[in-house]
Parts: sequence; C-alpha cells; structure tokens
Amino acid sequence: MMSCSPEELQKKSQELLAKWQACQAQPGFDGLVEFAVTVSSLTEFLEARGLSGLHQSAHALEQKVLSQFDQTSGTTLGTEALQALSQQVQEFLDRAQAFARGQVAPAEERRNQPEAPQTVTLVPVHKVAFVTTQPVPWRDLVAQVGYFNVQVEVFATVQALPAAPEPSIVLVDAVGLALADFVARVQALRGQFSASTIMGLNLGSDFESLQHALGAGCDACFAEGTQHAAIIARIIKLCSNEEEPPYRVLVVEDSKTAGALIRRTLSESGMESQAITRPQEVLTALAQFQPDLVLMDMYMPGCTGVEVTRVIRQHAEFLSTPVVYLSGDSNVALQVDALRLGGDHFLTKPFNPVILNAVVKSKIDRYRTLRRTMLHDSLTGLYNHTTSKQYLQTAINAARQQGSQLCVAMIDIDHFKAVNDTYGHPMGDQVIRNVAWLLRQRVRKTDSVGRYGGEEFVVLLPGSNAEQAHAVLDRIRVDFSHIRQPVEDGWFSCTFSGGIAQWNADLDSEVLLKRADEALYLAKRAGRNQVSMGA
Ligand code: GH3
Ligand code: MG
Ligand code: MG
Ligand code: MG
Repeated sequence: MMSCSPEELQKKSQELLAKWQACQAQPGFDGLVEFAVTVSSLTEFLEARGLSGLHQSAHALEQKVLSQFDQTSGTTLGTEALQALSQQVQEFLDRAQAFARGQVAPAEERRNQPEAPQTVTLVPVHKVAFVTTQPVPWRDLVAQVGYFNVQVEVFATVQALPAAPEPSIVLVDAVGLALADFVARVQALRGQFSASTIMGLNLGSDFESLQHALGAGCDACFAEGTQHAAIIARIIKLCSNEEEPPYRVLVVEDSKTAGALIRRTLSESGMESQAITRPQEVLTALAQFQPDLVLMDMYMPGCTGVEVTRVIRQHAEFLSTPVVYLSGDSNVALQVDALRLGGDHFLTKPFNPVILNAVVKSKIDRYRTLRRTMLHDSLTGLYNHTTSKQYLQTAINAARQQGSQLCVAMIDIDHFKAVNDTYGHPMGDQVIRNVAWLLRQRVRKTDSVGRYGGEEFVVLLPGSNAEQAHAVLDRIRVDFSHIRQPVEDGWFSCTFSGGIAQWNADLDSEVLLKRADEALYLAKRAGRNQVSMGA
C-alpha cells in the first residue's frame, strides 16, 4: 500500500492554504480556477497514495469549488460562498494535520533501522483491522493473507480499535447488523482514520445497501456469499508494492506558448509530457516518448490535427493510443469529422484546466486497462508469455547498454498434476495465484515476474548476479513451502523448483531462457523444492 510522508502532506497542505488565501484576497474567476486546479491535483494525489479518508474530504472540497463555476462565471464569489469554502478548507487542513501527527512516530522508527542489504527484500507488515462479532468463518482468510505479510487483528466493536497506528485496511463485517448500524460503524471509522481503506463484508447486494455503504465512506463492498479468494485478492493487491507509472502525454501544438501552458497544467496534476511544434515529428515522438495519450491541436501550418491522427492510425502499434483534440473554435462539422477519424474527445480553447485533466486521465485509465488485458495474464495479473519475452529482450538491451548484470529465473510448481487430481482444477488455480502473489510481493520493484506457461513462471532480476538471485528466490521458495493451502477439511502444502541463469554479453534471450530451463531441470532431478544455478 502506498502512503506519503508527513513532510509531503505538510507541503501539499501549505500549498492549498496559500492558493486559498490568494483566492480570497482576489476573489475573481481566475483565482478560483487556480484554486480549483490545486484542489483537483491534491485530490488525485491523495487517491493515488491510497489516503482514502483524506481523499474523500478533498474530493468534497473539489466538488464544492467546481460547483462555483456554474454560479459565478465571470463575477466574484459572494461572502457566503467564501465563508463556506473557508470552513471546508479548514476542515481538510485540520484532518491532514491530525493524520500527519499520527504518522511521525512510525517514520522515525523506520529511520532507526539499519539499511537492508540489496538482495534481501524487506517486506513491510501490513496491519489490517477486522471489526466483526463472528470471526470464525474468516479463519482461513486471516491465515491466507498472513502468508503475504498481512496481519489481521479482530475487534468486536469500532470503539475497541486503537487510534494509532492507522491500519492499512479496515474490514467491517455487516453480518447481523441493520443497514443503519453498519453505516454508523463505517462513518465512525471514516471519521477516525484518514488513510485506511475501508472494506465492507457480508453486505446485501441490493442498490440501497451499496449506495449507503459507499456514501458512508466504504472504499469497496463485498456482498454476502463473495468467494474469500476474491476478497483475499483485493487485500493483497492493496498491500502490493506496485505503483502506477506517471501518465504520459504527447502535446502536438504549433504555438510554443500554448504548448507550454498545456504542459504546465498537466504537470500540476502529476502528469509527464512532451511537446512538439512540428506535426511531421509525431511518429518519432510517439516511438521515443511512448505516451499514453496525444493532445492534438486542430490548426497547424500545413495540416490539420485530423490529418495528423490519420497518419498515426496507419501504424498498428498506435491504433489504440487515445487522441484528444484542442481547438480554438467549435466548428461542429470539423468536430464530427475529427471524432469519426479516430479521435477520442474534443475540447475547445481556452480550456478549463480541471476538465482537461479529468478528460485526459479518464481516457488514459481506459487505455491502460485495455492494455493490461492485452499484456497481462488474467488468472494472476502477471505479464503473460509474450510480454515476458519482450521484457526479457528489453532487459538484455538495457544490461548491454549499461554494462550491468542480469539474471533470469524459471520456476515450476512441483507435482502440480497431483494437486489438480487430488483437490480439483479450481484449487490448482488458487495455488498458481498464490505463487504469483508471493513472487510479485517479494521481488524488488525493478524485477519483473511473468506467467510463462501453465504452472511456470519467469522472473527477471536486473542488476543481480546468480548468487544474489539465488538468495532472493530460495527465500521465497522456503516461505512458499510453509503456506498452508486450505481445503475443506484441513490443508495441504506445495513446493516449487527454480533454475537461474546469469546473462553475459554472448547470450541472446533464447539461449538465456534455455539455460534457466536446464538449471530448473537439474533442480527437479535433484529432488525438487530447490533452486539451482545450473551446471
Ligand atoms: P513436476 O514436478 O515434474 O513439474 O510435476 P508436474 O506434475 O508439475 O508436471 P507437469 O509440469 O507436467 O504438469 C503441469 C500440470 O499443470 C499439467 C496441467 O494440467 C496443469 N496446468 C497447466 N495450466 C494450468 C492452469 O492454468 N490451472 C490448473 N489448475 N492446472 C494447470
Ligand atoms: Mg494551432
Ligand atoms: Mg511444468
Ligand atoms: Mg510442474
């Protein structure tokens, strides 16, 4: 789970206060737009960091600010509106400060710990609080997430929870509660914890239950009868160390001034961008910068934005890259043409920065979701076979260029046929997921894990030599062998074997994979449940 330092939050709060004071001193339309951009970027920042309670509070403020646009356009804010906004800003600041105070202690504690050596991955323990009066049916879930460094503590009431440290996740069981009582519990928790993700369990699946639960501050709701595997998956995903890379936008705009203004707006909301003034450079820029979206000016010397998009769409690799047009006039015929020829949205200049950011981000989210289903395996969320091979090639290129080390590991579950035969195919799938989660959680951020085949995985470890890679994977192997895979009346355990190959300048990707496979074969031959570095 991501979080943020008290200093970072302090800085963001001060920024907000400064912008608000500027807006109050000059309560015109421009000041309000500036303030709205700040609030909007703060809201997105808090959401990205998983600070759920603070995010909801900032989001409420954002909605309030944006609603002023409908009422004021052009004139100044009324005294009443100013006062109401002031109060909401203050409420947010109080809340952020209270949260930052609570964070200081653990941060200092962390600083006092010695640096972990590079190959031994330090996995932080995630605290989950579980408010329920009936913990027994959840024993397997508590045990399962425990293998992934997630500690669940059970409380019978909200009042029994300690105020600090804040848990990463709070699970609230609705079993036996009237909807109003459940909602009251969630509201109390939301008031107390600013960063925790709140998950409701055993909810009704009707519209009213979900609406009220979400309205009270639940981040996710699981209806009665949901498979525990789905809930476990969500908890582990929240606790994984993955971060979304920043959004990347290519700006095609002949006016340098307009381009700079757009880039500033994007960067204020945390996006990376590059601008080109000559549309002829668009293909090179796409290939080099690899943007998630193109913001396209409509009128440029020598060609229109629509023509540029048509050229882009002739290249298969950019077929689905979203294109959003920015144009000075609202020529309807042109807009229709633009959308028909593969544009995704049309915005008019001068643009409202909040809307620009919202449109760009939502298009990028969709695009990334689409790409994820193309590049990742649906059972485990890991890279699929094809993507894994592409990443290996990229990693080899990088190692060659930087003269750095690289290792590849092949992993295969032992006697997996017997798991399927004894416990059934769905249980086999669950074991595959468990290996995937454990690998992903334990390797470094710079490493990558793919599902190479049915119960085979490939791990890339850039910057590691064979001994370091062995140390990492052997620890994961031991831990995996201790996981109790729950079945109806008890549990069983399972092991995997691994083979490691270290890259050198003479090896291409095929040979490297073959060597890792040979090492894996040695591990299997020597009795399984071990990691081999080859002959
Ligand atoms: P070994 O220790 O030698 O690796 O033995 P093994 O039984 O694991 O041998 P093998 O690799 O031949 O068997 C793999 C089995 O995995 C065969 C196949 O039915 C099963 N399998 C492949 N993909 C999936 C999947 O997605 N889900 C499930 N449940 N089973 C799968
Ligand atoms: Mg232009
Ligand atoms: Mg196999
Ligand atoms: Mg196997």
